Amino acid sequence: MTGHAVVLGAGIGGLITAAVLAERFSTVSIVERDRLPDTPIDRRGVTQGRHLHSLLSRGSQIIEELLPGFLADLGAAGALVLDDVDMSRIYSRIGPYTFNRNDPAADPAALTTYLVSRPFLEFHLRRRVATLSNVLFLEGRDVGDLLAAQPERVTGVTVHARDAAGSEALNADLIIDATGRATRTPFLLERLGYTRPSEQTFTVDGVYYSQQIAIPDQDDFRERMILVLPEGKAQRGGLVACENNRWTLTIASRADDLGYAPTDFGEMLTLAEDFVPAHIQQPLRRAQPLTEVSTYRYPGGVWRRYDRMTRYPKGLLVIGDALCCLDPINGQGMAMATLHAHTLRTQLRRANPVDPQAFYTSIAAVIKPVWAANAEQPSGRTPGRAATSLRQRAVRWSRRKILEAAVDDIVITERLMRVANLIDPPQRLLEPKVLAHVVAHHARQSLSRRRTK
Ligand SMILES: Cc1cc2nc3c(=O)[nH]c(=O)nc-3n(C[C@H](O)[C@H](O)[C@H](O)COP(=O)(O)OP(=O)(O)OC[C@H]3O[C@@H](n4cnc5c(N)ncnc54)[C@H](O)[C@@H]3O)c2cc1C
Repeated sequence: MTGHAVVLGAGIGGLITAAVLAERFSTVSIVERDRLPDTPIDRRGVTQGRHLHSLLSRGSQIIEELLPGFLADLGAAGALVLDDVDMSRIYSRIGPYTFNRNDPAADPAALTTYLVSRPFLEFHLRRRVATLSNVLFLEGRDVGDLLAAQPERVTGVTVHARDAAGSEALNADLIIDATGRATRTPFLLERLGYTRPSEQTFTVDGVYYSQQIAIPDQDDFRERMILVLPEGKAQRGGLVACENNRWTLTIASRADDLGYAPTDFGEMLTLAEDFVPAHIQQPLRRAQPLTEVSTYRYPGGVWRRYDRMTRYPKGLLVIGDALCCLDPINGQGMAMATLHAHTLRTQLRRANPVDPQAFYTSIAAVIKPVWAANAEQPSGRTPGRAATSLRQRAVRWSRRKILEAAVDDIVITERLMRVANLIDPPQRLLEPKVLAHVVAHHARQSLSRRRTK
């Protein structure tokens, strides 16, 4: 192994990418603006970490593939593991549709879920990556400029220590921007004489309110993950357990829809009553808040189309939220960051140095279906596309029919969960086996309606 790779940002994307690069480069430096805490607590650079963060099964599978034994360590450290995928532990509602919660899944192992807070996940991932002997953390340092000592190639980056004057230059064979929503790469490329990438966007005007709570009567009910996405104006929300018997209560809404911003547990509770199942309301009322209410506002999604740039330098790649940031309500961002890192691993195995165009083309194929579903969601509002096409209406109609049928059918429920967890691509919902179950459900419904008449 030779060469120096630099990862900008020590979030989930940066950490998992560092693990990939450590397989190929003799030194991997991770530059992070925050001082990294030595306990699982919030930090300034990841303010979204105070809000509900569920890691989709595909994400945990990739982390395990790259860092074998990580999930067992996470479980041993206190993660709440739903590995039996007993459906009664999960309450999921989309619009008026709930999922089948009575029957066992055919392949529960694939849907194993690790319930942890974001600081807990990141802390354990960071600790594991720090054990890799060729990985170095340069914390408390801000990214400055990209350096281009050769034509059409980024050859380094300047970084500034946050608590000292001056800057240092890091020469690198490969730089990965994993600085999340705060990415400056479009601006830095422009300074080097490139054009900015074009951007695809969708608007949400979303706001999250979250609070950590303890529920002393949690053994009075079985559910550990309650996620509700009503259609229309009503708020969406989640009540999800994590490590150390803590829970996160989140209310997600569009900016103007609530009329007021909840500031204490009483107000959070009032809003939660709209979506938390009736038998959990009483234990929830007796819950104790462990933190203040945190607020996070976000405009919507953005996908920076580096794959469409006609001129782009070698030696620089962008991943995670810095490349494509989705609607948080779908809980896909961390799993997508691991998929980006996985794509990088495949590309590095093919050729090192990686061809940026090949990387961005293969990553665009990963992002495309997920992006399309995000932009299509009821919570997303795509500017200038108020009138929906025939195709979009057909997609929405089929989606509704599938969701309606899931309530009493485990085959459909399991497939929906596999798609939601990024294990299967969305088109697998349209497989003949699944469609046969959808048709059978609606045939039964129509027969029973005729009998009632
Ligand atoms: C409210 C909310 C809820 C969410 N819920 C979920 C969920 O349930 N499940 C899920 O999978 N995803 C969720 N997400 C998305 C998830 O947080 C991101 O997709 C994920 O963190 C992306 O990882 P990343 O490494 O690309 O960026 P980040 O995790 O944001 O990390 C970026 C890192 O770069 C550092 N950095 C930034 N600028 C600089 C600089 N100039 N110099 C040095 N360092 C810098 C930051 O300090 C940070 O450490 C949610 C997001 C939000 C906003």
